[in-house]
Amino acid sequence: MGIVVRGLKKRFGATQVLDDVSFEIARGEMVALLGPSGGGKSTVLRIIAGLEFADEGEVHLRGRVATHTRVQDRDIGFVFQGYALFRHMTVRENVAFGLSIRKRPKAEVQRVVDEFLALVQLDGLGDRYPTELSGGQRQRVALARALAPGTDLLLLDEPFGALDAKVRLDLREWLRRLHQERGLTGVFVTHDQEEAMDLASRVIVMNRGRVEQIGTPEEIYDRPATEFVASFVGSIN
Ligand code: ADP
Ligand code: MG
Repeated sequence: MGIVVRGLKKRFGATQVLDDVSFEIARGEMVALLGPSGGGKSTVLRIIAGLEFADEGEVHLRGRVATHTRVQDRDIGFVFQGYALFRHMTVRENVAFGLSIRKRPKAEVQRVVDEFLALVQLDGLGDRYPTELSGGQRQRVALARALAPGTDLLLLDEPFGALDAKVRLDLREWLRRLHQERGLTGVFVTHDQEEAMDLASRVIVMNRGRVEQIGTPEEIYDRPATEFVASFVGSIN
């Protein structure tokens, strides 16, 4: 398995944000965490990343217990809403960041950065600053930065949020390609069912801190397990 979470519980003050969340994601799978705002999706992702710790439950990464492992030792790439690009660094420096803190040799860092800038078709823009890029270009830099250290696990929290429709579609294709070419295990959070159905091999539907259903897009559509899933997937948003 790539990622396993078991019995995750998390409380913020009086609010039970996660109430016994369990699921398994196989290596090489691309899975969507789908559900309405406030349902606990970001919290699950942050716990998998090690940015947050659960009150109860376990996290396993690549077949090993990682429940208490520090974020820097988990070797996970993530693109989170709160983790925007470093504004005072060039595109190149942004993409190099994860490699530099891992103390890789300079020549290797340069080579890998070039490779990933080419992969997201931003070669030639390495010396620009984030403010000089479009929204879609920035998200591609964020993807390159997440992937450059060579991780096989990628977490994306609403990676297409705040972008216009055309750029969202482009980025979706990027992600599909990266996933296929690199054999990544990926989890992305979305509240957009169409995006989830299109990109994910399986979908985990979450609401109010609980998993409502796990299944392929077809299963979720054709055989919704709960009334919530039926109305959420059936609704046009
Ligand atoms: P989603 O990503 O599905 O919108 P979140 O995981 O962000 O859901 O949030 C779930 C609930 O937890 C929300 O009610 C949110 O207000 C609350 N929450 C999340 N993070 C914190 C925090 N650091 N402190 C207090 N409450 C939080
Ligand atoms: Mg969220």
